[in-house]
Amino acid sequence: MLMRIGGKDVEGVDETWIEVKNPATGEIIDRVPAGTPEDVTGATEAAETAFDSWADMTMRERGKILFRTSRKVREQYKDLAHLLTVEQGKPLKESTDEVRGFANVLEFYAGISACQNGEAIQLGAAGDCIVVRKPLGVCGSIIPWNMPVLIMGWKIGPALLAGNTMVLKPASSTPLTNLRLGQILEEEGLPPGVLNIVTGRGETVGTAMVKDAIIQKLSFTGDYETGVRIRDIAGASFKDIVLELGGSDPMIVMQDADIDKAVDGAVRGRFYNAGQTCTAVKRLYVHEKIAAQFIRKLQDRVESLTVGNGLGSKVDIGPMNSAEQREKISRRIEEMRNNKEGIILTGGNSLRGTVYEKGYFYRPTLVTNVIPESGLMTNEVFGPVLPVVTIPDLTSAIREANNTRFGLGASVWTKDLSTIKRVFKEVNAGIIWVNRHLSVPPEVPFGGLNDRGIGRENGQHAPESYSQTKTLYLGW
Ligand code: NAD
Repeated sequence: MLMRIGGKDVEGVDETWIEVKNPATGEIIDRVPAGTPEDVTGATEAAETAFDSWADMTMRERGKILFRTSRKVREQYKDLAHLLTVEQGKPLKESTDEVRGFANVLEFYAGISACQNGEAIQLGAAGDCIVVRKPLGVCGSIIPWNMPVLIMGWKIGPALLAGNTMVLKPASSTPLTNLRLGQILEEEGLPPGVLNIVTGRGETVGTAMVKDAIIQKLSFTGDYETGVRIRDIAGASFKDIVLELGGSDPMIVMQDADIDKAVDGAVRGRFYNAGQTCTAVKRLYVHEKIAAQFIRKLQDRVESLTVGNGLGSKVDIGPMNSAEQREKISRRIEEMRNNKEGIILTGGNSLRGTVYEKGYFYRPTLVTNVIPESGLMTNEVFGPVLPVVTIPDLTSAIREANNTRFGLGASVWTKDLSTIKRVFKEVNAGIIWVNRHLSVPPEVPFGGLNDRGIGRENGQHAPESYSQTKTLYLGW
């Protein structure tokens, strides 16, 4: 597929290409242009040209285009989910969830389009003020490969509704579904140049976007280290930035928890998307009174998961997105083995040398008796590996849960209100789930504390964050 700039399919000035591979087979399925800084300039100029007439439309008109797109996406969900599985690896049922999630996000923003208003402020004898909200201009989005479709929705929904035009960069391994969604938006009435999609590598296209003077706000979702680089470069300009970075979410299972429900929650929470989710359960703390029973059930469930090509109807876990991601996980487990930092209960290998030879698979893995200093506990582990730690009481569970630089999400599994109160108050995370984990509906603000980044996405106030106020002061 080609890039989309100014309503045209574009090969890019360099005419070099990036191959897109199916992670389940290693086969090349398509190629996209390896964009350059000149392509980014072309895209920001196209977005700037399209800005005035897009900003002049009413929110309701812009919302209608988002709504029509969501309807079309629902109609075409099978094709879109298939494309997502083939480029990203996740099982078809998860791709279907994600495509529908994208439609939900656009529908949500279309639905609130009539309620986004400025304000009038009465100052008595001094006059009255009318405060209107104006879009920022051209906004940039940099998308990761783990949830490329949903995250595209989180970024374009509020920004387009608020009247901004955009330049979007997909991850280099998952550009195809993003490009297809861009086509659907235009088919449903998005004017040319309002959303420009530049494919390419992070170091070239991404860096050019961070440095670009036309882009007023840049929203990035991705790895912590990349986020730090972006912050340092963007800090030199007046660009507004949102950084949605990694997570190392704890899950606390107390002695009064519904054990079966908590086991389900842990399996979904950790192994969904082959463990490649920012808010996945990355550290599990279980009360010692139920630990033996819980771990036995968890092990049974994990061993019953079917690993395979995501297109298979019975597959629970697909491949990881790239060979590089699988290597990272393999290295982390080897380090843990060599340093005797924990005990592997099940899994712990990459499935190479089997029928899975050509894909980037890693067997779902449970590790117990993990020491707090292990890299499994101190870093974000972005794959299907779950460390399980036994805790004697809530105080130590909270202490261990907070023993991280990330503060994205956390969950507690209990029936006790005072436990919920303490966890909500004392655990340092932006989202605390009770008896569930992972759900991120578009209605709810999303983001964490500490080193997980800067800013919030989603929720009814997100369009405001893509706007600026302008005041008319009437001194009667
Ligand atoms: P990544 O940082 O490698 O890549 C993300 C995007 O940034 C890609 O489009 C990439 O091409 C681009 N990029 C790479 N280097 C760049 C640079 N120097 N300048 C500008 N752009 C650059 O991240 P990833 O591996 O694709 O994504 C996985 C990470 O994303 C995990 O850490 C995960 O926790 C995080 N994530 C966070 C959230 C959240 O909302 N907090 C959601 C999903 C994923």
